[in-house]
Amino acid sequence: MNDCIFCKIIDGTIPSVSVYEDDDIKVFLDISQTTPGHTLLIPKKHIANIFEYDESLAQTILPKIPVIARAIKKSNPQILGLNIVNNNGAIAYQSVFHSHFHFIPRFADTDSFAMTFKDNSEKYSSDELQEIADRIHENLED
Ligand code: AMP
Ligand code: ZN
Repeated sequence: MNDCIFCKIIDGTIPSVSVYEDDDIKVFLDISQTTPGHTLLIPKKHIANIFEYDESLAQTILPKIPVIARAIKKSNPQILGLNIVNNNGAIAYQSVFHSHFHFIPRFADTDSFAMTFKDNSEKYSSDELQEIADRIHENLED
């Protein structure tokens, strides 16, 4: 039995405020409405996170991100910017383990959304940075 709430939204057993759907994706309002227009895009195929996209699924799903982004931006002249957030793993704040992209319209510095990027640059030598980059590069798929 599939207990995934987003699969239940796709099959209609849990209601949602739908923005768009096609054979591959569903787009609906996030119930939290962190800012007005906060929207989720999900693949209809149940996969847990970004690490489970094969190339074909990525080619189907990911090109829809800018299309939805532009529609949200055009939907309200007060929207000044948009954060697109994709949490992967509980440590990364993922709470629903069906892959999803948040679209969070931004209205002002003081709206309800914030992100913090701490600057740790002074902790790394250039050799250490190159070693990190090389290790990532070595793990790229062909
Ligand atoms: P995350 O924490 O990145 O896994 O985000 C999960 C999101 O799903 C949260 O922002 C929730 O508000 C949202 N959410 C959970 N249940 C529902 C639901 N039934 N309808 C719409 N959004 C939901
Ligand atoms: Zn699911």
